[in-house]
Amino acid sequence: MALQHLETAPERLRVVVVGAGPAGTRCAEALVAAGITPTVVDENNRDGGQIYRRQPEGFTRPYAQLYGSEAAKAQALHESFDRLRPFINYLPQTLAWNITADQLHCVSNGVHATLDYDAVVLCTGATDRLMPVRGWQLPGNYSLGGAQIGLKAQAIAIGRKVTFLGTGPLLYLVAKQYLDAGVPIAAVLDTSSRMKKLGALPKLLAQPKLLLQGFKYWAQLRLARVPVYQGVEPLEIKGNAAAGVSAICFHASRQIRKIDCDAVASGYHLRPEAQLADLAGCEFHFDEHSAQWLLTVDSNGRTSVAGVYSAGDSASVRGADAAEQSGWLVAQALLKDQGQAVDNSLMQASEQRLQAFERFRIGINQAFQWPAHLVRSLTREAIVCRCEMITAGELRDSATTRKTFEFNRVKAFCRVGMGRCQGRYCSQAGAEVIAEQVWMPVKLVGRQRSQAPVKPIPLAFNGCSHESE
Ligand SMILES: Cc1cc2nc3c(=O)[nH]c(=O)nc-3n(C[C@H](O)[C@H](O)[C@H](O)COP(=O)(O)OP(=O)(O)OC[C@H]3O[C@@H](n4cnc5c(N)ncnc54)[C@H](O)[C@@H]3O)c2cc1C
Repeated sequence: MALQHLETAPERLRVVVVGAGPAGTRCAEALVAAGITPTVVDENNRDGGQIYRRQPEGFTRPYAQLYGSEAAKAQALHESFDRLRPFINYLPQTLAWNITADQLHCVSNGVHATLDYDAVVLCTGATDRLMPVRGWQLPGNYSLGGAQIGLKAQAIAIGRKVTFLGTGPLLYLVAKQYLDAGVPIAAVLDTSSRMKKLGALPKLLAQPKLLLQGFKYWAQLRLARVPVYQGVEPLEIKGNAAAGVSAICFHASRQIRKIDCDAVASGYHLRPEAQLADLAGCEFHFDEHSAQWLLTVDSNGRTSVAGVYSAGDSASVRGADAAEQSGWLVAQALLKDQGQAVDNSLMQASEQRLQAFERFRIGINQAFQWPAHLVRSLTREAIVCRCEMITAGELRDSATTRKTFEFNRVKAFCRVGMGRCQGRYCSQAGAEVIAEQVWMPVKLVGRQRSQAPVKPIPLAFNGCSHESE
Protein backbone atom coordinates (compact mmCIF):
# COMPACT_ATOMS: atom_id res chain seq x y z
CA MET A 1 0.00 0.00 0.00
CA ALA A 2 1.50 3.36 -1.05
CA LEU A 3 1.94 5.91 1.68
CA GLN A 4 1.27 9.56 1.19
CA HIS A 5 1.20 12.57 3.48
CA LEU A 6 -1.29 15.28 2.63
CA GLU A 7 -0.94 18.85 3.84
CA THR A 8 -4.35 20.08 4.98
CA ALA A 9 -5.24 23.73 4.55
CA PRO A 10 -1.77 25.08 5.25
CA GLU A 11 -2.98 28.60 5.89
CA ARG A 12 -4.06 29.09 9.48
CA LEU A 13 -6.16 26.47 11.22
CA ARG A 14 -6.15 22.89 9.94
CA VAL A 15 -9.71 21.59 10.25
CA VAL A 16 -10.86 18.24 8.92
CA VAL A 17 -14.58 17.55 8.54
CA VAL A 18 -15.45 13.86 8.19
CA GLY A 19 -18.70 13.43 6.25
CA ALA A 20 -20.23 15.50 3.46
CA GLY A 21 -23.87 15.01 4.43
CA PRO A 22 -26.17 17.74 5.75
CA ALA A 23 -24.13 18.25 8.95
CA GLY A 24 -20.70 18.20 7.27
CA THR A 25 -21.80 20.50 4.43
CA ARG A 26 -23.25 23.16 6.75
CA CYS A 27 -20.22 22.90 9.02
CA ALA A 28 -17.79 23.36 6.11
CA GLU A 29 -19.87 26.25 4.80
CA ALA A 30 -19.69 28.10 8.13
CA LEU A 31 -15.93 27.47 8.38
CA VAL A 32 -15.37 28.80 4.86
CA ALA A 33 -17.43 31.88 5.73
CA ALA A 34 -14.98 32.45 8.60
CA GLY A 35 -11.98 32.27 6.25
CA ILE A 36 -10.92 28.68 6.97
CA THR A 37 -10.20 26.13 4.24
CA PRO A 38 -11.41 22.85 5.72
CA THR A 39 -10.59 19.44 4.34
CA VAL A 40 -13.80 17.47 3.80
CA VAL A 41 -13.40 13.69 3.73
CA ASP A 42 -16.18 11.35 2.63
CA GLU A 43 -16.10 7.70 1.68
CA ASN A 44 -18.95 8.24 -0.81
CA ASN A 45 -18.33 9.13 -4.45
CA ARG A 46 -20.36 12.29 -4.06
CA ASP A 47 -21.59 14.65 -1.36
CA GLY A 48 -25.12 14.64 0.10
CA GLY A 49 -24.80 11.98 2.84
CA GLN A 50 -27.59 9.46 3.34
CA ILE A 51 -30.85 11.29 2.88
CA TYR A 52 -29.62 13.56 0.09
CA ARG A 53 -27.40 10.90 -1.52
CA ARG A 54 -26.55 12.11 -5.01
CA GLN A 55 -27.03 9.81 -7.94
CA PRO A 56 -23.88 8.78 -9.83
CA GLU A 57 -22.45 11.29 -12.35
CA GLY A 58 -24.33 11.00 -15.62
CA PHE A 59 -27.61 9.77 -14.05
CA THR A 60 -30.38 12.24 -14.76
CA ARG A 61 -33.37 11.33 -12.59
CA PRO A 62 -35.04 14.60 -11.52
CA TYR A 63 -34.91 15.86 -7.92
CA ALA A 64 -38.66 15.37 -7.39
CA GLN A 65 -38.40 11.71 -8.39
CA LEU A 66 -35.35 11.07 -6.23
CA TYR A 67 -36.16 12.99 -3.08
CA GLY A 68 -39.96 13.48 -3.17
CA SER A 69 -41.10 16.02 -0.58
CA GLU A 70 -37.45 16.70 0.34
CA ALA A 71 -36.44 17.69 -3.21
CA ALA A 72 -36.02 21.40 -2.48
CA LYS A 73 -33.85 20.74 0.60
CA ALA A 74 -31.73 18.23 -1.30
CA GLN A 75 -31.17 20.63 -4.17
CA ALA A 76 -30.33 23.50 -1.79
CA LEU A 77 -27.75 21.36 0.02
CA HIS A 78 -26.14 20.10 -3.20
CA GLU A 79 -25.94 23.61 -4.60
CA SER A 80 -24.35 24.85 -1.37
CA PHE A 81 -21.76 22.11 -1.60
CA ASP A 82 -21.05 22.87 -5.28
CA ARG A 83 -20.47 26.52 -4.37
CA LEU A 84 -18.07 25.46 -1.59
CA ARG A 85 -15.92 23.27 -3.83
CA PRO A 86 -13.34 25.94 -4.80
CA PHE A 87 -12.86 26.88 -1.14
CA ILE A 88 -12.43 23.45 0.46
CA ASN A 89 -10.10 20.54 0.07
CA TYR A 90 -12.65 17.86 -0.84
CA LEU A 91 -11.58 14.21 -0.68
CA PRO A 92 -14.41 11.95 -1.92
CA GLN A 93 -14.05 8.15 -1.96
CA THR A 94 -11.85 8.55 1.09
CA LEU A 95 -12.51 6.48 4.19
CA ALA A 96 -11.29 7.79 7.56
CA TRP A 97 -10.39 4.47 9.17
CA ASN A 98 -8.51 5.56 12.29
CA ILE A 99 -7.78 8.61 14.38
CA THR A 100 -4.80 9.24 16.61
CA ALA A 101 -3.66 12.39 18.42
CA ASP A 102 -3.80 15.21 15.82
CA GLN A 103 -3.93 12.82 12.86
CA LEU A 104 -6.70 11.27 10.84
CA HIS A 105 -5.80 8.13 8.92
CA CYS A 106 -7.55 7.73 5.60
CA VAL A 107 -7.50 5.45 2.62
CA SER A 108 -8.60 6.31 -0.89
CA ASN A 109 -8.46 3.80 -3.76
CA GLY A 110 -5.84 1.76 -1.94
CA VAL A 111 -3.69 4.81 -1.17
CA HIS A 112 -3.15 5.68 2.46
CA ALA A 113 -3.12 9.31 3.56
CA THR A 114 -2.52 10.89 6.94
CA LEU A 115 -4.23 14.21 7.56
CA ASP A 116 -2.82 16.45 10.30
CA TYR A 117 -5.45 18.47 12.09
CA ASP A 118 -5.83 21.09 14.78
CA ALA A 119 -9.54 20.30 15.00
CA VAL A 120 -11.66 17.50 13.57
CA VAL A 121 -15.43 17.54 13.18
CA LEU A 122 -17.04 14.12 12.96
CA CYS A 123 -20.23 14.28 10.88
CA THR A 124 -20.32 10.57 10.13
CA GLY A 125 -24.09 10.02 10.34
CA ALA A 126 -25.80 6.82 11.41
CA THR A 127 -26.58 3.31 10.16
CA ASP A 128 -29.42 0.86 10.62
CA ARG A 129 -29.87 -0.64 14.04
CA LEU A 130 -30.57 -4.32 13.61
CA MET A 131 -32.21 -7.08 15.61
CA PRO A 132 -31.57 -10.70 14.63
CA VAL A 133 -34.38 -13.02 13.67
CA ARG A 134 -34.04 -16.64 12.74
CA GLY A 135 -33.17 -16.80 9.03
CA TRP A 136 -31.81 -13.26 8.69
CA GLN A 137 -28.58 -14.66 7.24
CA LEU A 138 -30.34 -15.99 4.12
CA PRO A 139 -29.78 -14.30 0.75
CA GLY A 140 -32.52 -11.72 0.21
CA ASN A 141 -32.12 -10.07 3.62
CA TYR A 142 -31.10 -6.42 3.55
CA SER A 143 -31.09 -3.55 5.98
CA LEU A 144 -33.64 -0.81 5.31
CA GLY A 145 -30.76 1.52 4.50
CA GLY A 146 -29.31 -0.97 2.01
CA ALA A 147 -32.73 -1.38 0.36
CA GLN A 148 -33.06 2.39 0.10
CA ILE A 149 -29.54 2.94 -1.22
CA GLY A 150 -30.16 0.43 -4.03
CA LEU A 151 -33.25 2.35 -5.04
CA LYS A 152 -31.80 5.86 -4.65
CA ALA A 153 -28.40 5.32 -6.16
CA GLN A 154 -29.08 2.77 -8.89
CA ALA A 155 -32.89 2.43 -9.20
CA ILE A 156 -32.62 -1.22 -8.08
CA ALA A 157 -35.19 -3.02 -5.90
CA ILE A 158 -34.04 -5.78 -3.53
CA GLY A 159 -36.78 -8.18 -4.64
CA ARG A 160 -39.98 -8.72 -6.58
CA LYS A 161 -42.14 -8.99 -3.46
CA VAL A 162 -40.60 -7.30 -0.45
CA THR A 163 -41.45 -7.40 3.27
CA PHE A 164 -40.41 -4.46 5.42
CA LEU A 165 -39.68 -5.48 9.01
CA GLY A 166 -38.66 -3.52 12.09
CA THR A 167 -39.68 -0.21 13.52
CA GLY A 168 -38.93 3.49 13.13
CA PRO A 169 -39.74 6.23 10.63
CA LEU A 170 -37.46 4.68 8.01
CA LEU A 171 -39.61 1.52 7.94
CA TYR A 172 -42.60 3.40 6.52
CA LEU A 173 -40.52 5.77 4.42
CA VAL A 174 -38.59 3.08 2.55
CA ALA A 175 -41.76 1.00 2.09
CA LYS A 176 -43.46 4.05 0.60
CA GLN A 177 -40.47 4.69 -1.68
CA TYR A 178 -40.69 1.11 -2.93
CA LEU A 179 -44.42 1.58 -3.46
CA ASP A 180 -43.77 4.73 -5.52
CA ALA A 181 -41.19 2.82 -7.55
CA GLY A 182 -43.84 0.22 -8.42
CA VAL A 183 -42.31 -2.65 -6.41
CA PRO A 184 -44.93 -5.06 -4.98
CA ILE A 185 -44.87 -4.97 -1.18
CA ALA A 186 -45.78 -8.15 0.70
CA ALA A 187 -46.27 -6.43 4.06
CA VAL A 188 -44.98 -3.86 6.50
CA LEU A 189 -44.35 -5.46 9.91
CA ASP A 190 -43.81 -2.99 12.74
CA THR A 191 -42.70 -4.40 16.10
CA SER A 192 -43.93 -1.30 17.91
CA SER A 193 -47.60 -1.15 18.89
CA ARG A 194 -50.19 1.50 18.03
CA MET A 195 -50.45 2.37 21.75
CA LYS A 196 -46.73 3.21 21.93
CA LYS A 197 -47.20 5.66 19.06
CA LEU A 198 -50.23 7.27 20.63
CA GLY A 199 -48.37 7.63 23.93
CA ALA A 200 -45.53 9.45 22.17
CA LEU A 201 -47.81 11.97 20.41
CA PRO A 202 -47.26 14.91 22.82
CA LYS A 203 -43.49 14.75 22.21
CA LEU A 204 -43.84 14.13 18.48
CA LEU A 205 -45.88 17.34 18.23
CA ALA A 206 -42.59 19.21 18.79
CA GLN A 207 -42.12 18.78 14.99
CA PRO A 208 -45.67 18.79 13.59
CA LYS A 209 -44.55 18.79 9.93
CA LEU A 210 -42.41 15.68 10.41
CA LEU A 211 -45.22 14.00 12.32
CA LEU A 212 -47.68 14.74 9.52
CA GLN A 213 -45.23 13.46 6.94
CA GLY A 214 -44.87 10.16 8.83
CA PHE A 215 -48.64 9.82 9.04
CA LYS A 216 -48.91 10.45 5.28
CA TYR A 217 -46.48 7.60 4.52
CA TRP A 218 -48.57 5.23 6.63
CA ALA A 219 -51.82 6.45 5.01
CA GLN A 220 -50.39 6.06 1.48
CA LEU A 221 -49.39 2.48 2.22
CA ARG A 222 -52.83 1.69 3.62
CA LEU A 223 -54.57 3.34 0.65
CA ALA A 224 -52.52 1.15 -1.66
CA ARG A 225 -53.84 -1.83 0.37
CA VAL A 226 -50.40 -2.80 1.64
CA PRO A 227 -50.89 -5.02 4.73
CA VAL A 228 -49.46 -3.11 7.70
CA TYR A 229 -49.22 -4.95 11.02
CA GLN A 230 -48.24 -3.28 14.28
CA GLY A 231 -47.06 -4.79 17.56
CA VAL A 232 -45.56 -7.69 15.62
CA GLU A 233 -43.22 -10.37 16.92
CA PRO A 234 -41.09 -11.72 14.05
CA LEU A 235 -40.54 -15.47 14.35
CA GLU A 236 -38.58 -16.66 11.35
CA ILE A 237 -37.53 -15.75 7.83
CA LYS A 238 -38.06 -18.90 5.77
CA GLY A 239 -36.04 -20.01 2.77
CA ASN A 240 -32.74 -21.68 2.00
CA ALA A 241 -29.17 -20.74 1.17
CA ALA A 242 -29.57 -21.51 -2.54
CA ALA A 243 -32.89 -19.87 -3.34
CA GLY A 244 -32.88 -17.25 -0.60
CA VAL A 245 -35.88 -15.85 1.23
CA SER A 246 -39.28 -17.42 0.50
CA ALA A 247 -41.54 -16.20 3.34
CA ILE A 248 -41.68 -14.60 6.76
CA CYS A 249 -43.50 -15.94 9.84
CA PHE A 250 -44.60 -13.62 12.60
CA HIS A 251 -46.98 -13.25 15.47
CA ALA A 252 -49.58 -10.47 15.27
CA SER A 253 -53.06 -9.93 16.71
CA ARG A 254 -52.83 -13.22 18.64
CA GLN A 255 -52.22 -15.25 15.50
CA ILE A 256 -49.19 -16.81 13.87
CA ARG A 257 -49.08 -15.66 10.26
CA LYS A 258 -46.96 -16.43 7.22
CA ILE A 259 -46.47 -14.13 4.26
CA ASP A 260 -44.70 -15.12 1.05
CA CYS A 261 -41.95 -12.77 -0.13
CA ASP A 262 -38.55 -12.99 -1.82
CA ALA A 263 -36.74 -10.29 0.13
CA VAL A 264 -36.84 -8.72 3.59
CA ALA A 265 -35.63 -5.23 4.44
CA SER A 266 -35.25 -4.76 8.17
CA GLY A 267 -34.19 -2.04 10.56
CA TYR A 268 -35.05 -0.79 14.04
CA HIS A 269 -34.35 2.91 13.73
CA LEU A 270 -30.71 4.01 13.72
CA ARG A 271 -27.43 3.84 15.61
CA PRO A 272 -24.85 6.62 15.40
CA GLU A 273 -21.57 5.99 13.60
CA ALA A 274 -19.33 7.16 16.40
CA GLN A 275 -16.38 4.73 16.22
CA LEU A 276 -13.85 7.44 15.29
CA ALA A 277 -14.88 9.44 18.36
CA ASP A 278 -14.41 6.29 20.44
CA LEU A 279 -10.92 5.78 19.02
CA ALA A 280 -10.15 9.43 19.81
CA GLY A 281 -10.91 8.65 23.47
CA CYS A 282 -14.18 10.60 23.72
CA GLU A 283 -16.65 9.84 26.51
CA PHE A 284 -19.91 7.99 25.91
CA HIS A 285 -23.04 7.69 28.03
CA PHE A 286 -26.00 5.32 28.05
CA ASP A 287 -29.10 6.98 26.64
CA GLU A 288 -32.20 5.51 28.31
CA HIS A 289 -34.54 6.84 25.60
CA SER A 290 -32.94 4.92 22.76
CA ALA A 291 -31.39 2.23 25.00
CA GLN A 292 -27.97 2.62 23.43
CA TRP A 293 -24.60 4.22 24.14
CA LEU A 294 -24.18 7.69 22.65
CA LEU A 295 -21.24 10.01 22.25
CA THR A 296 -21.26 12.65 24.98
CA VAL A 297 -21.32 16.14 23.46
CA ASP A 298 -22.27 19.51 24.87
CA SER A 299 -25.15 21.48 23.37
CA ASN A 300 -22.78 22.82 20.67
CA GLY A 301 -21.14 19.55 19.65
CA ARG A 302 -17.92 19.61 21.70
CA THR A 303 -16.84 16.14 22.81
CA SER A 304 -14.87 15.45 26.00
CA VAL A 305 -11.61 15.57 23.97
CA ALA A 306 -10.30 19.02 23.06
CA GLY A 307 -10.26 19.59 19.30
CA VAL A 308 -12.70 16.76 18.55
CA TYR A 309 -16.26 17.81 17.67
CA SER A 310 -19.30 16.00 16.37
CA ALA A 311 -22.54 17.05 14.68
CA GLY A 312 -25.53 15.49 12.97
CA ASP A 313 -26.68 11.93 13.47
CA SER A 314 -23.24 10.74 14.66
CA ALA A 315 -23.77 12.77 17.82
CA SER A 316 -27.52 12.27 18.14
CA VAL A 317 -30.03 10.81 15.70
CA ARG A 318 -32.33 13.79 15.23
CA GLY A 319 -32.79 13.79 11.45
CA ALA A 320 -31.57 15.83 8.51
CA ASP A 321 -32.91 19.28 9.45
CA ALA A 322 -31.30 19.02 12.89
CA ALA A 323 -28.11 17.76 11.23
CA GLU A 324 -27.88 20.93 9.11
CA GLN A 325 -28.55 23.05 12.18
CA SER A 326 -26.01 21.25 14.36
CA GLY A 327 -23.41 21.38 11.55
CA TRP A 328 -23.63 25.15 11.51
CA LEU A 329 -23.57 25.33 15.31
CA VAL A 330 -20.57 23.05 15.79
CA ALA A 331 -18.57 25.26 13.41
CA GLN A 332 -19.43 28.30 15.57
CA ALA A 333 -18.27 26.41 18.69
CA LEU A 334 -15.01 25.49 16.98
CA LEU A 335 -14.44 29.11 15.88
CA LYS A 336 -15.25 30.35 19.38
CA ASP A 337 -12.76 27.90 20.90
CA GLN A 338 -10.14 29.29 18.52
CA GLY A 339 -10.81 32.80 19.78
CA GLN A 340 -12.73 33.98 16.73
CA ALA A 341 -15.70 36.33 17.10
CA VAL A 342 -19.08 34.57 16.77
CA ASP A 343 -22.65 35.74 17.18
CA ASN A 344 -23.71 34.36 20.58
CA SER A 345 -27.38 35.25 20.09
CA LEU A 346 -27.51 33.29 16.82
CA MET A 347 -25.87 30.36 18.57
CA GLN A 348 -28.46 30.48 21.34
CA ALA A 349 -31.32 30.57 18.81
CA SER A 350 -29.81 27.56 17.07
CA GLU A 351 -29.53 25.68 20.37
CA GLN A 352 -33.20 26.37 21.06
CA ARG A 353 -34.22 25.01 17.67
CA LEU A 354 -32.18 21.89 18.38
CA GLN A 355 -33.99 21.44 21.70
CA ALA A 356 -37.27 21.00 19.80
CA PHE A 357 -35.57 18.32 17.67
CA GLU A 358 -34.32 16.68 20.86
CA ARG A 359 -37.88 16.46 22.20
CA PHE A 360 -38.94 14.95 18.89
CA ARG A 361 -36.05 12.47 19.08
CA ILE A 362 -37.24 11.29 22.49
CA GLY A 363 -40.77 10.92 21.08
CA ILE A 364 -39.51 8.88 18.13
CA ASN A 365 -37.67 6.52 20.46
CA GLN A 366 -40.82 6.13 22.54
CA ALA A 367 -43.08 5.58 19.52
CA PHE A 368 -40.71 3.13 17.84
CA GLN A 369 -39.16 1.47 20.86
CA TRP A 370 -36.07 -0.70 20.46
CA PRO A 371 -37.57 -4.21 20.93
CA ALA A 372 -34.96 -5.62 23.31
CA HIS A 373 -37.46 -8.26 24.47
CA LEU A 374 -37.24 -10.01 21.09
CA VAL A 375 -33.91 -11.61 22.02
CA ARG A 376 -35.84 -13.82 24.45
CA SER A 377 -37.51 -15.67 21.60
CA LEU A 378 -34.27 -16.26 19.67
CA THR A 379 -33.72 -20.00 19.47
CA ARG A 380 -30.25 -21.41 20.26
CA GLU A 381 -29.48 -21.86 16.54
CA ALA A 382 -30.50 -18.32 15.56
CA ILE A 383 -27.48 -16.44 14.26
CA VAL A 384 -26.68 -13.16 16.01
CA CYS A 385 -23.33 -12.25 14.40
CA ARG A 386 -23.66 -12.88 10.67
CA CYS A 387 -20.00 -12.15 9.84
CA GLU A 388 -18.67 -14.83 12.22
CA MET A 389 -21.88 -16.95 12.26
CA ILE A 390 -22.13 -16.83 16.06
CA THR A 391 -25.45 -18.17 17.34
CA ALA A 392 -27.56 -16.97 20.25
CA GLY A 393 -26.76 -20.29 21.98
CA GLU A 394 -22.98 -19.76 21.69
CA LEU A 395 -23.32 -16.24 23.04
CA ARG A 396 -25.44 -17.36 25.99
CA ASP A 397 -23.05 -20.24 26.74
CA SER A 398 -20.03 -17.94 26.65
CA ALA A 399 -21.65 -15.64 29.17
CA THR A 400 -22.61 -18.44 31.58
CA THR A 401 -19.73 -20.90 31.28
CA ARG A 402 -17.06 -18.18 31.32
CA LYS A 403 -18.92 -16.37 34.11
CA THR A 404 -18.59 -13.04 32.40
CA PHE A 405 -21.10 -10.50 31.20
CA GLU A 406 -18.96 -7.57 29.97
CA PHE A 407 -19.42 -7.37 26.21
CA ASN A 408 -15.75 -7.14 25.24
CA ARG A 409 -14.86 -10.15 27.41
CA VAL A 410 -17.62 -12.24 25.87
CA LYS A 411 -16.46 -11.09 22.43
CA ALA A 412 -12.94 -12.35 23.18
CA PHE A 413 -14.34 -15.79 24.05
CA CYS A 414 -16.79 -16.32 21.21
CA ARG A 415 -15.82 -13.84 18.44
CA VAL A 416 -19.15 -12.01 18.36
CA GLY A 417 -18.61 -8.65 16.64
CA MET A 418 -15.13 -9.58 15.37
CA GLY A 419 -15.97 -9.89 11.69
CA ARG A 420 -16.11 -7.55 8.73
CA CYS A 421 -18.76 -5.25 10.18
CA GLN A 422 -16.77 -4.90 13.43
CA GLY A 423 -19.96 -5.35 15.43
CA ARG A 424 -21.74 -2.41 13.83
CA TYR A 425 -24.74 -4.60 13.05
CA CYS A 426 -24.69 -7.19 15.83
CA SER A 427 -23.10 -5.76 18.95
CA GLN A 428 -26.21 -4.01 20.28
CA ALA A 429 -28.41 -7.09 19.88
CA GLY A 430 -25.50 -9.24 21.13
CA ALA A 431 -25.36 -7.15 24.31
CA GLU A 432 -29.12 -7.67 24.74
CA VAL A 433 -28.70 -11.46 24.42
CA ILE A 434 -26.02 -11.40 27.14
CA ALA A 435 -28.08 -9.08 29.38
CA GLU A 436 -31.11 -11.34 29.11
CA GLN A 437 -29.02 -14.44 29.84
CA VAL A 438 -27.41 -13.05 33.01
CA TRP A 439 -30.47 -11.07 34.16
CA MET A 440 -28.77 -7.70 34.06
CA PRO A 441 -29.64 -4.31 32.59
CA VAL A 442 -27.99 -4.02 29.17
CA LYS A 443 -26.23 -0.87 30.34
CA LEU A 444 -24.07 -3.02 32.67
CA VAL A 445 -23.05 -5.29 29.80
CA GLY A 446 -21.33 -2.22 28.37
CA ARG A 447 -20.59 -1.31 24.78
CA GLN A 448 -18.25 -2.79 22.25
CA ARG A 449 -14.94 -0.92 22.15
CA SER A 450 -14.19 0.37 18.65
CA GLN A 451 -11.20 -0.98 16.78
CA ALA A 452 -9.37 0.40 13.77
CA PRO A 453 -10.10 0.08 10.93
CA VAL A 454 -13.60 1.30 11.68
CA LYS A 455 -14.79 -0.16 8.38
CA PRO A 456 -13.18 -2.76 6.11
CA ILE A 457 -10.40 -1.34 3.98
CA PRO A 458 -9.07 -2.90 0.78
CA LEU A 459 -5.51 -4.16 0.86
CA ALA A 460 -3.52 -3.95 -2.39
CA PHE A 461 -0.32 -5.87 -2.96
CA ASN A 462 2.25 -4.27 -5.22
CA GLY A 463 2.54 -6.15 -8.49
CA CYS A 464 0.78 -9.32 -7.41
CA SER A 465 -2.76 -10.34 -6.84
CA HIS A 466 -3.64 -12.46 -3.82
CA GLU A 467 -5.50 -15.51 -5.02
CA SER A 468 -5.91 -18.95 -3.61
CA GLU A 469 -4.42 -21.79 -5.64
C1 LIG B 1 -29.45 4.32 5.58
C2 LIG B 1 -30.17 5.56 5.98
C3 LIG B 1 -31.19 6.08 5.18
C4 LIG B 1 -31.84 7.24 5.55
N1 LIG B 1 -32.84 7.72 4.77
C5 LIG B 1 -33.52 8.82 5.15
C6 LIG B 1 -34.55 9.34 4.34
O1 LIG B 1 -34.83 8.83 3.27
N2 LIG B 1 -35.23 10.42 4.79
C7 LIG B 1 -34.91 11.02 5.97
O2 LIG B 1 -35.55 12.01 6.36
N3 LIG B 1 -33.89 10.58 6.73
C8 LIG B 1 -33.21 9.49 6.34
N4 LIG B 1 -32.21 9.01 7.12
C9 LIG B 1 -31.76 9.83 8.22
C10 LIG B 1 -30.94 10.98 7.60
O3 LIG B 1 -30.17 10.45 6.57
C11 LIG B 1 -30.04 11.62 8.57
O4 LIG B 1 -30.82 12.15 9.63
C12 LIG B 1 -29.21 12.73 7.98
O5 LIG B 1 -28.71 12.37 6.73
C13 LIG B 1 -28.09 13.02 8.93
O6 LIG B 1 -27.15 13.84 8.32
P1 LIG B 1 -25.62 13.70 8.74
O7 LIG B 1 -24.90 14.75 7.99
O8 LIG B 1 -25.51 13.67 10.20
O9 LIG B 1 -25.18 12.26 8.26
P2 LIG B 1 -25.24 11.54 6.83
O10 LIG B 1 -26.18 12.19 5.91
O11 LIG B 1 -25.43 10.11 7.13
O12 LIG B 1 -23.77 11.76 6.25
C14 LIG B 1 -22.66 11.13 6.83
C15 LIG B 1 -21.57 11.07 5.79
O13 LIG B 1 -20.38 10.66 6.43
C16 LIG B 1 -19.70 9.75 5.60
N5 LIG B 1 -18.89 8.89 6.46
C17 LIG B 1 -19.28 8.16 7.51
N6 LIG B 1 -18.24 7.55 8.10
C18 LIG B 1 -17.15 7.89 7.38
C19 LIG B 1 -15.78 7.58 7.50
N7 LIG B 1 -15.30 6.80 8.48
N8 LIG B 1 -14.93 8.10 6.57
C20 LIG B 1 -15.39 8.90 5.56
N9 LIG B 1 -16.69 9.23 5.42
C21 LIG B 1 -17.56 8.75 6.33
C22 LIG B 1 -20.80 9.00 4.87
O14 LIG B 1 -20.34 8.49 3.64
C23 LIG B 1 -21.86 10.07 4.69
O15 LIG B 1 -21.77 10.70 3.44
C24 LIG B 1 -31.51 7.89 6.75
C25 LIG B 1 -30.47 7.39 7.52
C26 LIG B 1 -29.81 6.24 7.15
C27 LIG B 1 -28.69 5.71 7.99
